[in-house]
Amino acid sequence: MLSITNIHASFENTEILKGISLTIGNNETHVIMGPNGSGKSTLAKVIAGHPSYRVTDGIISLDEKDIAEFEPEERAHLGIFLSFQQPREITGVNFRQYLHTIHRAKVLNQAGKTLQEARKDRSLRKEISPIHFRKIVDELTPHVNMPSEFLERNVNEGFSGGEKKKSEILQMEILQPRLALLDELDSGLDIDALRTVCKRIVELKEQTGMSILLITHYPKILEYLAPDKVHLFVDGQIVESGDKTLAERIEAEGYLTKK
Ligand code: ADP
Ligand code: MG
Repeated sequence: MLSITNIHASFENTEILKGISLTIGNNETHVIMGPNGSGKSTLAKVIAGHPSYRVTDGIISLDEKDIAEFEPEERAHLGIFLSFQQPREITGVNFRQYLHTIHRAKVLNQAGKTLQEARKDRSLRKEISPIHFRKIVDELTPHVNMPSEFLERNVNEGFSGGEKKKSEILQMEILQPRLALLDELDSGLDIDALRTVCKRIVELKEQTGMSILLITHYPKILEYLAPDKVHLFVDGQIVESGDKTLAERIEAEGYLTKK
């Protein structure tokens, strides 16, 4: 589904990704492990189309369509979702309204309609209405064990690290992506929250057939999200790929032995 070939990417004049190739099939879970600063988050952001990074070489294709020049919004519409390592706080933007906005954008995109057109269509009008959305979101918040009061706050503002991760997964639930890029999902979540969130991700993966690219330092999470492949990432390159046993070996030996 996602195919990356020999990607090189830079931030300003520093090359961070130095020739990454990776293929992720439908409904597969891939895991990236590697030392701090090796470029893992950069890879996730480059796939999502983050404008800070310049892709200097290589191909990124989704369902055999070259998306390297696509805007982040177009990639999101094609089903790419990025859960940030450090989700931003968005002051002045109410969380419920924000979720409603992304829901509406998704519905309009799927229907191929503008907001004006959708307002003239009875069933679409209902689907994008705030009242209908209230029902949807009220069903979703318990999946990540998030009290509904959070919806009345600003996006991520004052949320703890774990609450921000739950907020990301709630956004993912609404968007139902084809490919979820989960950057250090486990950082900030307590043990119970990690179990709850992972259980939900596995359910969603089964329901929707989505694929996952998970970045983590903790093989413990792989007990919940069984990986098809594990990749060891060092200094902007994938230096080794394998199955779950590679994660166990990395945990036992550390990253440095591969440098
Ligand atoms: P990882 O996620 O593997 O810890 P990152 O992809 O976040 O690593 O970063 C890789 C390297 O690129 C680091 O040295 C980091 O400081 C640098 N880098 C990445 N993004 C930026 C940025 N927006 N501004 C400055 N430096 C960056
Ligand atoms: Mg990172």
